[in-house]
Amino acid sequence: MAGTYTFTIIKPGAVNNEHIGPILNKINNSGFHISAMKLIKLRTAQAKKFYEVHRDKPFYNDLIEFMTSGPIVVAILEKENAVEEYRKIIGATDPEKAEEGTIRKLFAQSMQKNAVHGSDSDENAKIESDFFFSNSERFSIFEERDF
Ligand code: GDP
Repeated sequence: MAGTYTFTIIKPGAVNNEHIGPILNKINNSGFHISAMKLIKLRTAQAKKFYEVHRDKPFYNDLIEFMTSGPIVVAILEKENAVEEYRKIIGATDPEKAEEGTIRKLFAQSMQKNAVHGSDSDENAKIESDFFFSNSERFSIFEERDF
């Protein structure tokens, strides 16, 4: 069964361009519930760990420099089939290939400064969410709550 949450980052370029509001609006309007969120600045070691799978790629150093260049928003988003549904609304990694109306088409500046990150599997959604949030910072809509 597909998972019910994914993990996202609003990257430094989008934060710097005041796109937090419009991006969150798009997320909510697409039926996602925000179950965890904070504004932070990544340390180099954290960014390197997060993007470890890309360490041999030519763009790795630039990516680490960019991701540590300013504050980012990290968040957990809930919806049935969240990983796939979110990848649909963010669009292709390269904004020039992203479909009209997607977050990257609307807000990305380039392939590297592509506005947002979205987990690519349920397994990575868990790893990435656990990397940034403790249990007491998460408020799932799928669990009983009294507020
Ligand atoms: P994503 O899952 O769509 O974010 O794409 P990837 O996991 O393949 O890449 C991670 C991030 O590295 C992307 O979101 C981009 O910011 C960056 N990136 C990926 N490919 C390239 C590239 O060819 N050039 C540059 N400059 N950055 C890239």
